Amino acid sequence: MRTVQPFKRLLVKLSGELLSGENSVFSASYLNNLSEAVLRLQKENKQVAFVVGGGNIWRGRDADLLGINGTDADYIGMLSTAVNGLMLKSCFESKGLKAELVSSFFIEGIAYRRHPSEIREFLENQVVVIFVGGTGMPHLTTDTLAAIRAVEISADLLVKLTKVDGVYDKDPMKYTDACKFDVLTFDEAVQKRLGVMDLAAFALLRDKNIPVAVIKGTDPMELVSFLHDSNKGTLVIPYSQEVHGE
Ligand code: UDP
Repeated sequence: MRTVQPFKRLLVKLSGELLSGENSVFSASYLNNLSEAVLRLQKENKQVAFVVGGGNIWRGRDADLLGINGTDADYIGMLSTAVNGLMLKSCFESKGLKAELVSSFFIEGIAYRRHPSEIREFLENQVVVIFVGGTGMPHLTTDTLAAIRAVEISADLLVKLTKVDGVYDKDPMKYTDACKFDVLTFDEAVQKRLGVMDLAAFALLRDKNIPVAVIKGTDPMELVSFLHDSNKGTLVIPYSQEVHGE
């Protein structure tokens, strides 16, 4: 049993795949719905940052398909996250939101590195911060970046948007009797090998006491619903303890 909690500063990990349309790199309706969800969150006085992936454009693990060098393939992946971030920023701004692109590497005229204190100031002033460029290092993932950025901005919650509506004991796409967890600890998720995020990211979040929400990302409004409805998604918490609501 879980209670609704007053999370204020959210770091949302958005995989690139969610941004894609049926036959296109970007889905206009998804981008529109995501912007609407962020507007709703801001009306509720939430501060929102995104870490965006690049999987709708390119993933480093596909290097072998083209016979290219794996490190270059990872840099192509990191550049893809910047393309997605700029698209998000533009869409958010077209809806009247303020947005800032923060990159792990410098892109003249487009995205810059920022000190954590500047980033926190953006968030306090209702600017949506979009982190791109991965960690800037090959052979890592945007999940790792999401964990690092969540710690850096002192997020209250890391939200991982996925294709299913939470963490299950087995793959709900394959097994009709799969059961969803409402709440579980990081250690339980690791012991049960539930594969919520990569292990390095997970360990960092557990040590820094930042819970993870796993929610269905195909409908961005779930970002809002999760904060009000304790039956939505799954909440992964650092320790098995009573969680107190608002
Ligand atoms: N990537 C990387 N280092 C990082 C983050 C990402 O090399 O710190 C590369 C990697 O090749 C990855 C690609 O960027 O496949 C896109 O990121 P990711 O697969 O995490 O995107 P998502 O699946 O979330 O869309």
